[in-house]
This record gives sequence, C-alpha cells and structure tokens, in this order.
Amino acid sequence: MTHNGRTGRRALVVGLGIAGIATALRLRQVGWEPVLVERAAGRRSGGYFIMLFGTGVASARRLGVLDAIGDRSAANLTMHEVDRAGRRRPGMSPAALPGRPRQLLRGDIEQGLFAALPDDVEIRYRTVPDAIVQDDAGVDVTLRDTATGAAVTERFDLVVGADGMRSTVRALAFGPQEYLHPLNYMIAATVLDEPVEGFARHEGLVLAEPGRSVWTFPFADHAPGLLFSYRTADIDAEFARPPVASVRAAFGPSPPGPSWRACCGVSSRRRSSCSTPFTRSGCRAGIAAASSSWATPPGA
Ligand SMILES: Cc1cc2nc3c(=O)[nH]c(=O)nc-3n(C[C@H](O)[C@H](O)[C@H](O)COP(=O)(O)OP(=O)(O)OC[C@H]3O[C@@H](n4cnc5c(N)ncnc54)[C@H](O)[C@@H]3O)c2cc1C
Repeated sequence: MTHNGRTGRRALVVGLGIAGIATALRLRQVGWEPVLVERAAGRRSGGYFIMLFGTGVASARRLGVLDAIGDRSAANLTMHEVDRAGRRRPGMSPAALPGRPRQLLRGDIEQGLFAALPDDVEIRYRTVPDAIVQDDAGVDVTLRDTATGAAVTERFDLVVGADGMRSTVRALAFGPQEYLHPLNYMIAATVLDEPVEGFARHEGLVLAEPGRSVWTFPFADHAPGLLFSYRTADIDAEFARPPVASVRAAFGPSPPGPSWRACCGVSSRRRSSCSTPFTRSGCRAGIAAASSSWATPPGA
C-alpha cells in the first residue's frame, strides 16, 4: 500500500447493479482503484420487491450503507392466502421469517450503495467488454463504447463480472454457458401505484395453484410489489410476447375470480398504475460468478 492507503491496483467491475456497486465500493475502501462499466446509458432507479436477509444486512452494515438503504417493512404486515373464489385464510408473512428480513425495493439497495461510492470512482456508461485476455500478471480487456463504437484495450489487475445472470464476462472468460439449463419457471414482477382492490396497504395476498402463483408484498410507505411465478415448457417463447399476455395465458383458462381479477386488472393497466415496467426472468440453474443472484423458489 502507498502512503495514501491506495494499493495502486486497478480493477474493472462490469455491471452497475447491486453486485457491481457493492464490489466497487468495497474495493475502493480497501485501497483499489475500481473502474465501473455499464451497458445502459444511465443508472437504473426502479425495482421490484426484495427482502434483505441477514447476510445482506451484515454486508450492508460492513460497507457502511445499512442506514442509507433503509427499511420499508410494514409494521402490521398481514398476509392472506386467497383462492379464485375470494376466500381468505391466514398466510405466511415475510415478517415471520427468521431474522425479520427488511422489505425493500431493489432500487433502495442500489441507491444506498451508489450514494456511498466516492466521487473519484470512474463510471463509464454505454460501455461493454468485447474481449478479455489474461496472463500471469494481469488482464487486458477491450472495452467498447456502444454509442460511438470506439474500442480501447486497457490493463487491469482484476476483472469482476457483475453483469447479471447472462454475464458477458463469464462467457468471455469461460466460454459457452452450457452449464445453464432451464428450470422452466418464469417470474414477472412490478411495483404497483395503489394497493390491490379489497386489500389495505399493509395486507398482502398469495394465490398459489399448482404450477403458478401470484403474490403481493406490502410496504409501509409504498403500494405493494406484485410478483407472478409460473411453470412453462418454453422460456424463450415467453419473451416473444408482451408480459401481460404471457401472464394472462399462464393463469388461464380458469375463471379469474375477484382476487385474481384485481391483480390482473392492476397489472394490465400497468402504464398508468405501476411505477415500473415488468421485470421478467426465466429461471435457469447455473454458476453466478460475482453476482448477488438469489434464486426464486419455483413455487414462490
Ligand atoms: C422478482 C424478484 C425478486 C427478488 N427478490 C429478492 C430478494 O428478496 N432477496 C434477494 O437477495 N434477491 C432477490 N432477487 C434477486 C436480486 O434482485 C438479484 O440477485 C440482484 O438484483 C442481482 O443483482 P446483480 O447486480 O448481480 O445483477 P443485475 O441487477 O442484473 O445487474 C447487472 C448489471 O450489469 C449490466 N450489464 C449486463 N451486461 C453487461 C455488459 N455486457 N457490459 C456492461 N454492463 C452489463 C446490466 O445493465 C445491469 O445494470 C429478486 C429478483 C427478482 C427478479
């Protein structure tokens, strides 16, 4: 280490999500010079419902960002198991999980981490890695500015792939991702601008049927998150049509009933009723290098 606490070592962190920002922040705290590159033109601010469990709380505390991340857990959170006829039974509350995980929006975590990132950490948007060549002393990475097409090759001591489930870094470093295989489940998530009709702000619902379920997750200070999960024979086909069409097909043809109609009504009006568009993900098993990935259980 030099006199200013810097190691003089340079790290490339690919991806400006939770994993990338947390990695860059920690590297910077221990004296590295991280450079963050992000494919998008700017930082994402939206997000879906997310729970911060014990490991995440401990990590956030160690990074010094726990207070900044906050907590949207509803004090009197109540979950209802519902069926299509509208019958309600007591459901399992996330607040009852061991350690009482914090209920948050994904963007809360990113924002808390991002705010702690020192100003001198370089961030390059619209930038992707095109080639990674490693030798005994370091790594040469060819980075391309997707706006101009300009490419530059730079030397780093470390490259961290925090570029999500379909990681380009992983493909460039380890080759074809043949170890990924579909679990044949889809999830679709968004955040509502109003509670589902018939439910108070602190009340969530779970409609679980064989091969499909819909959940709402309440917050103390925000309308709920909405999560669909369903089994499918063909994940790629699900992405070929709009999210609402896919969800409707997956939950038909049974008559919707009041609870389902309320969820579907809110979600199909999503342009006016939801503050974020749908996030969709096909569940695949595989190795998630340097990712904060968390697998949604198929029945969730
Ligand atoms: C509905 C839902 C609920 C969830 N609930 C929970 C929960 O309760 N608790 C929990 O711990 N986790 C949960 N998760 C999982 C959690 O949200 C993710 O694991 C986490 O957000 C992943 O963060 P990440 O930084 O690894 O990847 P991402 O958020 O995918 O970020 C990757 C970044 O890399 C960028 N990128 C991609 N390719 C390139 C490239 N070639 N070059 C440059 N940049 C690139 C992307 O634009 C993006 O900004 C949930 C996920 C979903 C979908």
